[in-house]
Amino acid sequence: MNMRNKIVAGNWKMNCDISQTYELLDELKDSELPEDVTVIVTPPFTSLQSANQALVDSDIIVAAQNMHQAANGAFTGEVSAAMLNGVGIDTVILGHSERRAMFWETNEILAAKVNTALENEMTAIFCFGEELGDRKSDNHFNIVKEQLQEGLFHIKAENWESIVLAYEPVWAIGTGETASPEQAQEMHKYVRGLVADIFGNEVAKSVSILYGGSVNPANAKEIFGQEDVDGGLIGGAALKAEDFIAIVNSF
Ligand code: PEP
Repeated sequence: MNMRNKIVAGNWKMNCDISQTYELLDELKDSELPEDVTVIVTPPFTSLQSANQALVDSDIIVAAQNMHQAANGAFTGEVSAAMLNGVGIDTVILGHSERRAMFWETNEILAAKVNTALENEMTAIFCFGEELGDRKSDNHFNIVKEQLQEGLFHIKAENWESIVLAYEPVWAIGTGETASPEQAQEMHKYVRGLVADIFGNEVAKSVSILYGGSVNPANAKEIFGQEDVDGGLIGGAALKAEDFIAIVNSF
């Protein structure tokens, strides 16, 4: 039996002003959610504090979509880990493919962000995944290995308690095209093997690996049913309460 944490995280991206945040959270709060699934929502920065307050009596966790690696300073427009901690946020998505592609976040920058998250006792949902060209040229395993080696694998074995992995093939994000359950399982198994090689079996067995890329209520059950898939990072479908709730209930 799989004893790892089951997790479904909604990546809201740059969507939902404050009233839309309350609306979506009201629907989630009123819904039946399974007790054995950790549910995470990631509203934009402007809604984080309000979302946390709105969910004070709920088990739903509020996380940030990003943060800067520095403690403070002249980084116009950026938000630090301590600022997130200050409004009660201790979980953050790092390395989403949109951050990598549109905001030039390199593996090196992400390694620094991971360190900052750990220093601030935060949980990092670390995203990685290949582009379509990498998969077509059969280079997807190498790319994923490189992203993990350069961005994450410098941490210590004990730090893995604060890490959730999210495999998100770029060609499946927001495209309506999902990796097949077999493709997801194949990569998740590969990644768990990499973690085992470096950090040992205990760590590898306990880390949750989420799949992200056009998950919806119709395909979630089959994807979540794969042995090494421990849940999902959900983009578009996280913005519709009905769909997100159905996905959370898909295990
Ligand atoms: C995402 O952006 O993390 C994502 C998985 O998006 P979507 O579900 O819309 O493909």
